[in-house]
Amino acid sequence: MNARPKKSFGQHFLHDRRYIERIVDVIAPRSEDFVVEIGPGEGALTLPLLAAAGKLTAIELDTDLIPGLQARAAGKGELHIVHADVLKVDFTAMAHSHGVQRLRVAGNLPYYISSPILFHCVEHAAAIQDMHFMLQKEVVDRMAAEPGSKVYGRLSVMLQLACRVEPLFNVPPEAFRPPPKVESSVVRLLPLASHELHDARPQDVYAVVKAAFGQRRKTLANALKQLLDSDAIRRADVDPKARAETLSPTDFVRLAKVYASRE
Ligand code: SAM
Repeated sequence: MNARPKKSFGQHFLHDRRYIERIVDVIAPRSEDFVVEIGPGEGALTLPLLAAAGKLTAIELDTDLIPGLQARAAGKGELHIVHADVLKVDFTAMAHSHGVQRLRVAGNLPYYISSPILFHCVEHAAAIQDMHFMLQKEVVDRMAAEPGSKVYGRLSVMLQLACRVEPLFNVPPEAFRPPPKVESSVVRLLPLASHELHDARPQDVYAVVKAAFGQRRKTLANALKQLLDSDAIRRADVDPKARAETLSPTDFVRLAKVYASRE
């Protein structure tokens, strides 16, 4: 009945019921929610989520898993399986086409593409109510890191400018089949309301953040020299002698705005 997990799809199936229950509890799906699961696999989370919400849309890339999932879900609710790469799924269009304001997104993510999935969801954050993801603990630590921390970087800044990041609890390797090599963690992401969002263009923020952390040991004057000179950095109210890891996400927004007005 159970498929052999495929490494190439990042398949680590959750089997420990205690953690499955904890995840479903923190999501707390209700019948009025439009829940979307990324990577349902064999249905460890899908079936309890479906039982709680009554309906669920699941996005799975591995064709081999789909018949088993359909069979397990039969009679348990309305399961709609989308056979696709989640990175190609337009969440905003999905919400519109179902006449819902915002989706609730969840999943035990395939770790090999966790950062691209996070960035993809952030792009569609206006169409998302909340996200609950299982990720490598190290990734959750980076997402939630504050300025000054060793792991504060690109992911921290980009995610914190779009969402509130709430690490929830850790999950040990033994809870999965096969066990991953690393500790995992469940995190909640709450997209910021429109009035809380900054008004810099994401591509400008990304350009500045990427350059700044690309050479995190250098001063900003050095790390950003292809993008901004010291006077421009000062115009953003940032010290050119500072290092990227000491700047807050909003410091990067000001740098991005000066960068955008460079011509
Ligand atoms: N949710 C299941 C569980 O908790 O047992 C499976 C989790 S497993 C870590 C990740 C799942 O994501 C697998 O089912 C895998 O086939 C699927 N997956 C991998 N890459 C994907 C992609 N690009 N788009 C959608 N699903 C993908």
